[in-house]
Amino acid sequence: MAMNVSRLVQALEPSATLAMSAKAKQLKAAGKKILDLSVGEPDFPTPWHICEAAIAAMKAGHTHYTIASGIPELKKAVADQYRSRYGLEYAPSQVVIANGAKHALHNACTSLLNPEDEVIIPAPYWVSYSELVKLTGARPVIVPTEEAHGFKLTPEQFCRAITPRTRALLLCSPSNPTGTMYSPEELGQLADIVLEHNLFVISDEIYDQLVYDGLPFASFPTLRSGLQERTIVVNGVSKTYAMTGWRIGWTLSPENLATAMGDLQSQETSNPCSISQYAALTAITGPQECVAEMREQFARRRKFVRERLSKIPQISFPEMQGAFYAFVNISQYLGRNYGQVLIKDSAQWCLELLAQEGVATVMGSAFGAEGYVRLSFATDLATLEEALDRIERFLGSAA
Ligand code: PMP
Ligand code: GLU
Repeated sequence: MAMNVSRLVQALEPSATLAMSAKAKQLKAAGKKILDLSVGEPDFPTPWHICEAAIAAMKAGHTHYTIASGIPELKKAVADQYRSRYGLEYAPSQVVIANGAKHALHNACTSLLNPEDEVIIPAPYWVSYSELVKLTGARPVIVPTEEAHGFKLTPEQFCRAITPRTRALLLCSPSNPTGTMYSPEELGQLADIVLEHNLFVISDEIYDQLVYDGLPFASFPTLRSGLQERTIVVNGVSKTYAMTGWRIGWTLSPENLATAMGDLQSQETSNPCSISQYAALTAITGPQECVAEMREQFARRRKFVRERLSKIPQISFPEMQGAFYAFVNISQYLGRNYGQVLIKDSAQWCLELLAQEGVATVMGSAFGAEGYVRLSFATDLATLEEALDRIERFLGSAA
């Protein structure tokens, strides 16, 4: 008998962001010049004082198992951080340290959802959301949003998607892939509906420190009283401190969910890397100038990308308010010939851009939005400049 893959895993799409990034890396390894705007990860080295904390942790012998849900010092530091940033009171026991924010999302979905539950996910959505929900047996309910409304779920769209099976809303603000952010008022309107229908929210706040133009970021549980008991907040060090490889993220949640997620982790992965946890502790309790410096660099790149994109005819994109992505509407450029090739959809467009011009991006279809392409501007200005020259040339060649 064939060794068939389980139905749940068969139904899983591999991560398109990581697949495009792997493709770019392969071509680079084969000696091709590739300009990589695919994966969303800060290109800066992890600040050195954080690396030193890891070395110190090894020297101090922190090289063994820790408590499965994380070291107490880091849990306390995360709780303190949310108190000082947003005035939210969490006990350290409500914090679970995971192997990255993606794993924190997996913990949240697995501990909250039952098979047949429905989870509302506004599209465009980050590639892993639908798959992490599907892995629990629950059903992702993808709700398309409008570019003209910054790709934000409206109260009407939210209400229309609710059924008796709806258990949760999965929100990402600032958003990967759209780069837009809900205002506190917009989030408040969604919060009222959450409370009215007794729903739960998984709020992915991983880009909370990457907001531009001084726009106000609101952590979801702050919007109305009673939300803290209904929300699992996800955050981590990957984006804020350029620590994607260290694999540390976390949840802040009601106590019973935190206990469940800790228990889950104790069976599934044990603790996140002990050394990385000490590094993350220094990241969030140490000097914070590095965060502002990186944000400034991202802001400069954002300005450059916006200026360049706005000169290209027949494309559009919403204002980038946070994170490091431009989500570009290329629908006017589909169904056209590029050299000998007729390009029909965003996936083909991205693959052809990579083949013809050596620029790696991610197709909108991976985020539930055909007709778009995501450009990550988490790379240096010289790379961005050349990549945009090539993208412009590629689009200009469409006949
Ligand atoms: N959420 C969003 C919206 C992200 O963009 C990412 C980065 N891919 C993650 C979660 C996962 O982050 P981590 O690297 O900490 O797993
Ligand atoms: N957040 C990044 C992205 O969307 C990392 C890749 C991933 O984890 O999917 O490109």
